[in-house]
Amino acid sequence: MKASILYEFNQPLLWQETDRPTPGPTEVLIQVMACGIDGTDLKLLSGFGYAPDLPFIMGHEIAGVIAEVGDHVIDFKLGEWVIAYNFTTCGECLPCLTAHEQLCVNMGSILGVKGKNGGYAEYVVVPERQLVRISPGVTWTDAAICCDAGLTAFHAVDRSRLKVGETVLIIGIGGVGSVAVQVAKAAGACVFAVEVSAEKEAWAREMGADETLNPSRVDIPATVRELTNGFGVDCVIDIVGQSATIGDGINALRHGGRLLLVGYTPDYYALEGKYLAQNELELIGTRAGRKQDLINAVSFMASDKAESIVTQTFPMKEANEALAALRYGEVCGRIVLLT
Ligand SMILES: [Zn+2]
Repeated sequence: MKASILYEFNQPLLWQETDRPTPGPTEVLIQVMACGIDGTDLKLLSGFGYAPDLPFIMGHEIAGVIAEVGDHVIDFKLGEWVIAYNFTTCGECLPCLTAHEQLCVNMGSILGVKGKNGGYAEYVVVPERQLVRISPGVTWTDAAICCDAGLTAFHAVDRSRLKVGETVLIIGIGGVGSVAVQVAKAAGACVFAVEVSAEKEAWAREMGADETLNPSRVDIPATVRELTNGFGVDCVIDIVGQSATIGDGINALRHGGRLLLVGYTPDYYALEGKYLAQNELELIGTRAGRKQDLINAVSFMASDKAESIVTQTFPMKEANEALAALRYGEVCGRIVLLT
């Protein structure tokens, strides 16, 4: 098969022939149809954060057709259309047994990120346990982006406990934010989106945001209070995680409000304990998502409420060009590679 292979950090991937992997007894071989790319891939390329052993095949938003099944695979068969949950977990610890696989205390590999080759290839092997069927009517590209952007957005909104009529400030309308805006709207919330360019503000409105706020033009907490009769928002979902965005988020919350931290950077944020206590603020971390969030995301994509967040596609062999477009371009939504 052919794949885009990472041989050296900070160097272009090489599109070349490599051995087609063979599924083990409880695994399937997927013929990749689409694979999304995102900022995690850029970090991998530069060896920042997760540093997989090289050579490595990236790609953690995989959609495709089952091309081969292991001898002990029970629930899936040849030809089925599937997407892949990225975490290979132990299945035995308390988080695993309570359907919080993303918190597995014995976390194994992460598909296309660490320890297991991903979807920048014509074929990829995935354990049966990590497969989710694609709902009818969902395109390959929309199915692929569910694996990270969709799942992360669903998990964050789930943890936010958003209710009908509440207000939410979503900071950062990239792939995850584009889905989060839609899911928050579907939950009946009023959505304010924070983005730094006019083009991305327009994109956020296209995704359903009621208002957009640009921190280069307005003071975010002050503007939020103007929009909420001085109260502040019920909830903030911060997908950026810089000290400035965390600060804006905290200061935009109403008394008793909830701040969800989805994105993160090496930044710290100093918060006075008294402010947290006396305003009864809740700070909630959220990591990727559960397998159930992936199931919810792909079924949402099949609904008439969903807008595609995929704005550009590249042939699989042009992964370097796609990554450059992501790194240097003003990309709204998501870029997806197609075989
Ligand atoms: Zn576990």
